[in-house]
Amino acid sequence: MHSIVFGVQPVNMVSMETESPKSIFRFRGGHPALDLTATLTGRLKAVQRELLVTPADLAQWLAQAGLAEAGAVVSQRDLAVAHSLREAIYMLASAAIAGKALPDASVDMLNAIAACPQAVPEIGYDGRIRLVGNAGALLARLAGDAALLLGGPERARLRQCDGASCAILFVDRSRRGDRRWCSMRGCGNKAKVDAFRGKKKADAPTG
Ligand SMILES: [Zn+2]
Repeated sequence: MHSIVFGVQPVNMVSMETESPKSIFRFRGGHPALDLTATLTGRLKAVQRELLVTPADLAQWLAQAGLAEAGAVVSQRDLAVAHSLREAIYMLASAAIAGKALPDASVDMLNAIAACPQAVPEIGYDGRIRLVGNAGALLARLAGDAALLLGGPERARLRQCDGASCAILFVDRSRRGDRRWCSMRGCGNKAKVDAFRGKKKADAPTG
C-alpha cells in the first residue's frame, strides 16, 4: 500500500534518491506536475521520446508518482488529457522560468482540466492519506495542484536543469535557491566530469 500525500503542498513520494533505475520515468521535479512533463524526453534534442504511449503507461506513471494504486483503470481519453495537461504545464512552467507572460492557450487548457471533478484526499484509520477518484479525477487534481504551483510562491523557485540537453523541470527547494541540476548523480556529475576534462585540456601544454 502506497501512502499518498497530495494536496495544497503535494509531496512526491518517489524522491531522487529512491528513484528506481529500472523505471523509465524520472521523478526529479519535487512536484508531480513537473514530473509529468518529464514523460516526454529529449525536449531539447532533435528526437523526442514519448513515455506515455498507451493507457497502461499512464496507469504505471500514476502509480509510480504515488497518485494511484497500481493497476488503475485508464482510458484512451485519460491518456489524451494527460498529454494535453503535460504540455500545458511545460509551456506555463517554461514561461514562468523565462519570466515571460503565461501563454493564454495553456492557461485555458490547465483551467479546463482542473475544472473537472477532482479526486479528493481521504485519510485512513492508519493516518495515511490516499486520493479517491478515477484517472480523470486524478488528472484534474493534478491540474489544480499545477495551478497552485504555477501561481503560488514556489513559482519563483521553478528551474530547468542546467544539463546541456536536459529539459527536466524542478522546484528548487535548496536553502540558497541555487540548485542547478535535476539530479546530482546524473546531470550534476556529468557537468563536473565535463568541467574537469575541459580544465585538463586547458592545462595541457600547447604547441
Ligand atoms: Zn538534468
